Amino acid sequence: MNALERKLKRQIALDGPISVASYMAQCLSDPAHGYYTNRDPFGAQGDYITAPEISQMFGELIGIWFLDLWQQQGRPNPFHLVELGPGRGTLMADMVRAVLPHLQKNETLSIHLVEISPVLIQIQKEKLEPNGVSVTWHDDLSDLPQAPLFLIGNEFFDALPIHQWVAHKQKWHERVIGLDDDGALAFGLGPVRDMIAPGDNHIDDGAIFEHSPASEAIIAQIANHLTLHSGAGLFIDYGYDKPGFGDTFQALRQNAYANPLQHCGEQDLTAHVDFHALAKSAQETMENTGDNPAISRITTQSDFLLAMGLQERAGQLGAGKDLDVQVAIQTAVERLASPDQMGTLFKALALYPQAISAPVFSRLT
Ligand code: SAH
Repeated sequence: MNALERKLKRQIALDGPISVASYMAQCLSDPAHGYYTNRDPFGAQGDYITAPEISQMFGELIGIWFLDLWQQQGRPNPFHLVELGPGRGTLMADMVRAVLPHLQKNETLSIHLVEISPVLIQIQKEKLEPNGVSVTWHDDLSDLPQAPLFLIGNEFFDALPIHQWVAHKQKWHERVIGLDDDGALAFGLGPVRDMIAPGDNHIDDGAIFEHSPASEAIIAQIANHLTLHSGAGLFIDYGYDKPGFGDTFQALRQNAYANPLQHCGEQDLTAHVDFHALAKSAQETMENTGDNPAISRITTQSDFLLAMGLQERAGQLGAGKDLDVQVAIQTAVERLASPDQMGTLFKALALYPQAISAPVFSRLT
């Protein structure tokens, strides 16, 4: 048993079972033993691989998307690019490379990274500082500049805690984590909650509904900022765009699914992102703030990347290269965009001022 498991079990023995959200938050970000506090999850012994680590094309196309939105808004100077949960800094480095050549002499790029992991901050420093652009780190969104911000988050929201509710005899209970007869961590039924889940008429026993107040609070904070100061946001993650039931709480360890109640703090814990709830939270905030409301739109990663020119960029990168390089580039295209890989499971949510049209998303209206 590791130190975090011991700590959680002691807490449960003293105070009773804890919510899935509390368990997830402690496993991921406990100041001493949390998964993100301590390690580089993407290393050689990594637990998973993300889109920017698959190909530079991902960050380049996102960079061009933001460049368009920045230009349409009158090129606010400096150009504040913000990333939530920047991992190894690869996505931001690729965005910077795509964006910098389009800036004029008097225009500067100002990078802001919102990150909780000291290990990853060090890696981000090494990756980004050689670019010669200004980089500032933030613990959370509260001290970002009061200016137009262009915010990206890739696989950020899936790392934020979720609550789970379980249906039992036509009532919703919080799903909790307690101790079984052998003293092992185990799921259980917590108190009944007064809540409304979608399609509420008859719910089968055992149905699970997930809710992430932490994610909704962050997207609302961003939406509020965008209506007050303008800019744009783009959030890409695996998830669903319609409300629904299902248990998506999962652990990943060395690229394989694992039991989320084991190896506390030593494996990644995630949940699918409820894009419908994010978009709704953003939209409600934006409608109630200021007189320059922004709008939110959802599409798939595949539609986003293909419309931004993924195939064309792949062709450029491969031109004149050896066959094995061309094959590797094409394999990356497939991984990112094909429906049986990341293409449709991953969704993209954009927030941008109503007065302008965002590439890709404007076509959905
Ligand atoms: N965007 C990167 C990394 C995704 S992993 C990529 O696509 O490769 C999730 C990232 O979010 C990590 O950098 C992790 O340290 C960070 N993170 C997790 N929880 C966070 C929180 N509450 N606040 C800020 N960053 C967080």
